[in-house]
Amino acid sequence: MSASLKWVRRNYNVPAFTGLEVAYRGAPATILGGRAQYVRVLPQGAKRAAIVHPYDITYPVLPLPPRPRGWCDHCMEERAIRADGTVVRHQRNGHERFPPDERNCPGAGRKPWGICAWTIAPPATTEEEAAA
Ligand SMILES: [Zn+2]
Repeated sequence: MSASLKWVRRNYNVPAFTGLEVAYRGAPATILGGRAQYVRVLPQGAKRAAIVHPYDITYPVLPLPPRPRGWCDHCMEERAIRADGTVVRHQRNGHERFPPDERNCPGAGRKPWGICAWTIAPPATTEEEAAA
């Protein structure tokens, strides 16, 4: 797990995951990891990775998870979102250092810091759907 790729996902709201097959400059490429606020991609057939801006990559449409996901406003980790728009219950970072009754993250039950765009259904694209 790459911390800088997580930063990229959070701040650019793109599904930048290690190993994901994407397109870069119109050609197939594989995400190798992050480099600060950039993404390291290996274009198919290339010998060296390129370090590129997250918006210069074309990402595939990923299968939707059972529930939308977002960033917990307290721990800033990616968590599932309930139907009422709040973050599910989860343990806080370093929960083992806390007494058992304080191990749940205080961000649970609150609105997320942001929603992961790739975990929600895309907006309507056909004319019929747009008119509806
Ligand atoms: Zn949390």
